[in-house]
Amino acid sequence: MKLILLGAPGAGKGTQAARLMQKYNIPQLSTGDMLRAAAVAQTPVGLEAKAIIDAGRLVSDDIVVGIVAARIQQPDAARGFILDGFPRTINQAKALDAMLADAHMDLDAVIELKVDEAALLSRIAQRVKQTEAAGKPGRADDNPEAFKTRLEAYQTLTAPVSAYYAKTGRLAVIDGMASVDAVTEGLDKVLSRIVKA
Ligand code: ADP
Repeated sequence: MKLILLGAPGAGKGTQAARLMQKYNIPQLSTGDMLRAAAVAQTPVGLEAKAIIDAGRLVSDDIVVGIVAARIQQPDAARGFILDGFPRTINQAKALDAMLADAHMDLDAVIELKVDEAALLSRIAQRVKQTEAAGKPGRADDNPEAFKTRLEAYQTLTAPVSAYYAKTGRLAVIDGMASVDAVTEGLDKVLSRIVKA
């Protein structure tokens, strides 16, 4: 099964992707995780991306498309994957279409988790508090200023990606304001139709 999870930062994509990964035994391909790992490893891509990520802006389409193109060719992605955090721009969505066509792969579903802005802000504030309380180092881009930039990038560049997939009839929208378990149920409902089809 090949899926895209769309949604604003803090919408719950990572939480749900982890559950889907277990249930369907397919990898979660999170471009945010891949870029952060590249930054820690100080690869050329990671070094270039780090300041951009920390400021809450989007890394260039070329870099991200290159990372995803390499990742979906790995053997574990042959049976399926959950794309989390990609595509984030219309250009990335078009590049993904080309990549999948080249690999003779088809998307099974594009699912958007919808959460309003006030809830996103309070979730992120909560995440920062919990991380601090646990004495763990937080994400540099979870500070209020970078988070505002991330939300703006989402609204201007990523929200149109939902419309792009809606046009092809492939978009399912799920209420991401519900509890974590209720959102999982919503995803299960959408996906069970696909698995049976
Ligand atoms: P979140 O969804 O919580 O904002 P992610 O972990 O998905 O965070 O991404 C963190 C950062 O990594 C983004 O703010 C951006 O700088 C970079 N990034 C991740 N995916 C992409 C992408 N597809 N295109 C451009 N930049 C990306």
